Amino acid sequence: MKLAVADLIRERFLTEGACAGRTFPVLNPADGQILAHVPDREPADAEQAIQSAHQAFGTWKKYLASERSVVLRRWYDLIIENLDELSEILTREQGKPFDESKTEIRNGALGLEFAAEEAKRIAGEILTPFRDDARALVLRQPLGVIAAITPWNFPSGMVLRKISAALAAGCTVVCKPAEETPLSALALAVLAERAGVPPGVLNIITTSQPAAVGAVLATHPLVRGVAFTGSTEVGRLLMKQASSTIKKVLLELGGNAPFIIFDDVDIQEAVRGLISSKFRNSGQTCITANRIFVHEAIYNDFVASFVPEVQKLRLGNGLEPGVTQGPLINQTALRKVEEHVVDAVRKGAKIVTGGKVSALGGTYFEPTVLVDVPLNALLMSEETFGPVAALTRFRDEQDVIAQANDTHQGLSAYFYTRDMKRIWRVSEALESGMVGVNTGAITSAYIPFGGVKQSGLGREGSHHGIEEYTELKYVLMGSIDT
Ligand code: NAP
Repeated sequence: MKLAVADLIRERFLTEGACAGRTFPVLNPADGQILAHVPDREPADAEQAIQSAHQAFGTWKKYLASERSVVLRRWYDLIIENLDELSEILTREQGKPFDESKTEIRNGALGLEFAAEEAKRIAGEILTPFRDDARALVLRQPLGVIAAITPWNFPSGMVLRKISAALAAGCTVVCKPAEETPLSALALAVLAERAGVPPGVLNIITTSQPAAVGAVLATHPLVRGVAFTGSTEVGRLLMKQASSTIKKVLLELGGNAPFIIFDDVDIQEAVRGLISSKFRNSGQTCITANRIFVHEAIYNDFVASFVPEVQKLRLGNGLEPGVTQGPLINQTALRKVEEHVVDAVRKGAKIVTGGKVSALGGTYFEPTVLVDVPLNALLMSEETFGPVAALTRFRDEQDVIAQANDTHQGLSAYFYTRDMKRIWRVSEALESGMVGVNTGAITSAYIPFGGVKQSGLGREGSHHGIEEYTELKYVLMGSIDT
């Protein structure tokens, strides 16, 4: 069933709720135009959504796994059928190039397909008997109502990752998408409804009051799990709030990825890997290369090969053919990127290409390469979240590992080398949840995505990601006469 973009943009109120018709606008970052208005939900609406998710949990958890699987599979089919329309909505509200939107949605849908299949394999155990008169079982049961709070940088991917795993496990969901990008979540919900996801199983709450609505989601006694992707700062707050009712928390937080290039590599291959890691979504990804360490023996050659490739990137409206770099999400993001570049230059870094707001205006920032960036620059200690490659040189393996690990974040890390012994040494030494060896692209629906240290708790994707939405129950059956 193919729908038009207009049918997928849900502005109308399904239920009036406490916000009494109040809305907020959704803007296109490419030109600042208003795309749509969505309901500006109040904390009382969150309460109502939690109640309906709780009610629906009573029936959804009793569906046979095979029945849940069929519904999720139908949702997957509808997403694939409407891929172009969903991608257009995503590009319009988020800014990324149309092909990147398609990749994001296709990957999210693959996660949904995986969850639909895996729903049938969520199993318990029968333990080896430890008493003659009893047998012990372990049941794996759904957690209950899940609050899912998602960011703007992957408006479909992050929503699908959480909802597909939670629904497959038998949980129901109240999802609060990011303020800048609620249309993708709403469009996915339109298709979920058509796929047969029963009322109350999936609830989308759009709001311009994230703190007030978030507090209800994170403290309500009927919510049994909080699944959050976003900044470490908000993750910390949600964890604190969730502790009041001892909820399970699943946190996918900020990164500060090191990207290390040793001196034994094929430089062109490493350049391609760095381009794909650094400039996807204009650098607005949690796993983007943030600190780039290049061995001093190949530093100049690497810079000479890398810069022309960066200069080939094309800024513009993501719906225009050939555009590889969209605008940044908003003015705050733009100011942060600018501030990081100015700070680095003040501390001794040199701009080789880019380095400023684009002549296109708005929130477009030129793809930028900075060399000789000192370790005390903001670019090296904070997530820049923009199209800025910050290069610095290193000499010694132990030193560069220590520098790579010198951060509170630990989401992803990358390195290039051909030395097999070093591959193992460095992979094991890097303090991060995910490591890319000789590649800059590590994500997939089939892998356990997540971080260590202050980059998060738990994993999304793969069977590990589905188990996060379950809990174990031990049952001892006594009076067994054997
Ligand atoms: P953010 O400010 O933390 O926002 C994320 C979500 O939390 C949004 O829906 C936001 O709503 C909501 N929120 C904000 N304040 C809240 C509060 N007090 N209580 C409850 N919810 C609240 O992060 P962002 O700027 O959107 O996203 C960028 C960050 O996400 C980066 O740090 C990036 O690394 C991280 N990220 C991590 C992963 C991962 O998998 N580890 C993936 C993608 C992004 P509003 O939109 O209304 O503010």
